[in-house]
Amino acid sequence: MNYRAFHKLSYGLYIIATESAGKKYGYVGNTAFQITSHPSKVAISSHKDNFSTQKIIDSKKFSISVLKKEVETSLIGKFGFMSGEDMDKFQGVETITAQTGAPIVLDSCVAWFDCKLVDTVDVGTHILIIGEVVESDIISNEEVLTYDYYHRKYKMFAPKNAPTYIEQEKLEAEPGPEVEVLEEKSSSSSSPGAVHICTICGFQYDPEEGDPSMGIPPGTPFEDLPDDYKCPICNAGKEYFKES
Ligand code: FE
Repeated sequence: MNYRAFHKLSYGLYIIATESAGKKYGYVGNTAFQITSHPSKVAISSHKDNFSTQKIIDSKKFSISVLKKEVETSLIGKFGFMSGEDMDKFQGVETITAQTGAPIVLDSCVAWFDCKLVDTVDVGTHILIIGEVVESDIISNEEVLTYDYYHRKYKMFAPKNAPTYIEQEKLEAEPGPEVEVLEEKSSSSSSPGAVHICTICGFQYDPEEGDPSMGIPPGTPFEDLPDDYKCPICNAGKEYFKES
């Protein structure tokens, strides 16, 4: 089996969210798709280990917010790589509710669907959750984010719980072209230190650029980063980075 073939399947990227006992839960998923039009039904595939999965099943409701192409990457970091057990992912994120009460994310999104859960199918590691759309709307007409564009632009990995996650070893064992990147970083030959990559999410620390989001000025070698430096996307510590 050539696992790279799976990268040729097209997807978007969405924030899936719910509310249970007054608390909001959510994650970034690429598997959200329409399955019937009369009535309008959609399905999501949600990992059993995801904190949000059981909350969606218990509350019997969820929202799907469609991310825009030029997404705020911190949103992906929070909803894609961190657990709602450790933090409130919704802090500072603009949301509304419609009929079901599931929070609908407006930031970096172009459209949303409010759904009531009508069925679930246990498919092994994941649960296929089927919902009937009770309300939907468009926020803007900006371009939508595709999974392919996200991977090529940000070069990030799929989180381990994503239905499309493939172990690096399996990919490396396969013949095939490397993923073409959209924006090659400029050569860092004139700056000190090497580019370091976060092994959790794929974020690249380029000393030439520093990390303004974390207050690190351009020209700071990886070695000189403070010991408590954290990946701006997934919050992993320095020990999770390796030289690229
Ligand atoms: Fe990271």
